[in-house]
Amino acid sequence: MARSVESFLNGRWQSGTDGRPVRSAVNGRVVAEVSAQGLDQAAARSYAITTGGGALRALTFHQRAAILRNLGKALLAETDELYALSCETGATAADSAIDIDGGAGALLSYAAMGRKELPNRTVWPDGDPISLSRDGRFVAQHLNVSRLGVALQINAFNFPCWGMLEKFAPAFLAGVPTIVKPATPTAYLTEAMVRLIDRTGLVPDGALQMIAGDITALLDVLDEQDSISFTGSAATARQLRSNPAVVDRGTRFTAEADSLNAAVLLPSAGNDGPTFELFIETVASELRVKAGQKCTAIRRIIVPASACSAVEEALVERLTTFRIGDPADPATEMGPLVGLEQRTALQQAIEQIGATVVHETTPFGDVDVEHGAFVSPVLLRAETPAESAAHQIEPFGPVATLMAYDTLTDAVDLVARGRGSLVTSVVGPDLTEAADLTLGLAPYHGRLHVVDATSGPSSTGHGSPVPQLVHGGPGRAGGGEELGGMRSLLTHMQRTAVQGSPDLLTAVTGRWFDGARRQERGHPFTFHFEDLAVGDSLQTESRRITIEDIERFAELTGDTFYAHMDEQAAAASPIFSGRVAHGYFVLSAAAGLFVWPDPGPVLANYGLDNLRFATPTYPGAEIRVVLTCKEKSLRPDAGYGEVRWDTKVLDQNDNLLAAYDVLTMVATREGN
Ligand code: NAP
Repeated sequence: MARSVESFLNGRWQSGTDGRPVRSAVNGRVVAEVSAQGLDQAAARSYAITTGGGALRALTFHQRAAILRNLGKALLAETDELYALSCETGATAADSAIDIDGGAGALLSYAAMGRKELPNRTVWPDGDPISLSRDGRFVAQHLNVSRLGVALQINAFNFPCWGMLEKFAPAFLAGVPTIVKPATPTAYLTEAMVRLIDRTGLVPDGALQMIAGDITALLDVLDEQDSISFTGSAATARQLRSNPAVVDRGTRFTAEADSLNAAVLLPSAGNDGPTFELFIETVASELRVKAGQKCTAIRRIIVPASACSAVEEALVERLTTFRIGDPADPATEMGPLVGLEQRTALQQAIEQIGATVVHETTPFGDVDVEHGAFVSPVLLRAETPAESAAHQIEPFGPVATLMAYDTLTDAVDLVARGRGSLVTSVVGPDLTEAADLTLGLAPYHGRLHVVDATSGPSSTGHGSPVPQLVHGGPGRAGGGEELGGMRSLLTHMQRTAVQGSPDLLTAVTGRWFDGARRQERGHPFTFHFEDLAVGDSLQTESRRITIEDIERFAELTGDTFYAHMDEQAAAASPIFSGRVAHGYFVLSAAAGLFVWPDPGPVLANYGLDNLRFATPTYPGAEIRVVLTCKEKSLRPDAGYGEVRWDTKVLDQNDNLLAAYDVLTMVATREGN
């Protein structure tokens, strides 16, 4: 009897009853059975919210990022078992690397971005403070806070590991527990990945659960704090979008659905040469990888009419060389589809498109063609491109349709007939053509991949979603946005505009707001990280800026810009009324006023943020500095933390001359 794929719920692995068989893509053998019947899915949601969500929200963004980093590394160290199972799904070693190592890589990317771009707190200020009163006593700040529900992630069969991890990482970083529902045909590989994650012991209890099989019982209990992020076909997306959880109870819903992505060859690429070759290789690779079962794969090949025959010939030659066979064989370049049902669906899609078949006969290696879902790559040609059904039908496999265009406007029109795509590649050397097409296509896409022979070799590739960049697309592509760096956390967070006094906002965010209370307890540069409080402040002595200072600074640095050196020219400018001090001199003189000269807890200054010279500094100005501890962030185990100082340089009449944040590293008591 086949093994049951177990679900991971309420802290334990459990099987449903009456499992549905799942077969190997390679030989049709039953690999596993999948069922969620009888599992307490409502209890799993409660467990996620109380146990998982509670634990996650107690951690800062940086602590969550550190867990993702350790998890990514642990997974990368133990992939052998996953690779073996991945073969059964039809994936070659190269395909598995995208899915398994790529998934772990997404965790590492999110860990790095979270550490760099988010505060070491549980609340994420969104944008700058907004002043709402003239006296500065009433301000506002948008805040992103973790939602209190569960992130249900419904995934497609084609990337059982990456598909889960690229959604899990942002939800986890946002402080929201995940329940993942893998697609049935490859659920056994997701199960193996979740078991591996469970064994690391790194993820807090309840922060990641998995249900293999029907999830109707879970959908029935979702509400407004929960979210569903779906990846799969447009038909299933439509069904889920009208589920009562979404329509009646306000569950957030995002979809990544099918997409008829394109590749456009520019006229400037010609009929041969390196850019032309790059185009052929880009299209061929998208047909070969995962046997074309990729949401980002190129389905429409759109080329100048003058290049159509050359493209057709070059592609047929390239497709004939694909080594199709057993994915376990390291020499295999293209494995089978995920199963026989998918093969039948692909054949139907090809028939429905009804285009001229240009190529469909690449030979296979020694494989079981009756029980294994092997197919040849298929190249179609649309004789009347504007009317082609290739703009409506997604053949989810190694199939693409060639179409000729006359003008760049026609090319944009053809691509747009896909009604919204994840990605299109534009290939050609002419920058005017490339820029025109980029802007023409942008409203229809989540991502555009624009390359020529110079940038092509360094490209991350047409079909590779990059964690830092948006993955999603308008219209038919589902209208969702995944990845895109920190943007993807927003699905899991509530943005709230908080209005109040600067003191209130300081208390809520842990970050000092302009106008909030300050305290002077001695020079703050003499305090260790733990002893320093947000709001600790220093008001310095003043220093007079003289014309000699300006001359000496100009001589020292070589900066003899007219505004500093030529009284008449400066006075004649629309900005100044005479010679002014160098802005960088004002900064240097300000540092001279506020630094603590002796060795102490402040180890180094590593930069300035948000610098503005508000008013020119004229000779005779008496400058002074108000320095305030604005934000603290401990670097665990480093012996120091990062401290941001609000810095204001004022003159004798309290005019603001310069404002900026000084960034320092401040030692902990143990650190020095
Ligand atoms: P699918 O049939 O739509 O299934 C997707 C997921 O939805 C599976 O987990 C499936 O579970 C689940 N599902 C189906 N009906 C459901 C329902 N009534 N309630 C709750 N869950 C339900 O798609 P697929 O065949 O797995 O994947 C191929 C499709 O996905 C292609 O069209 C491809 O373009 C698209 N795709 C898009 C992206 C993207 O990022 N845009 C990425 C990958 C794939 P079961 O398997 O248990 O039915």
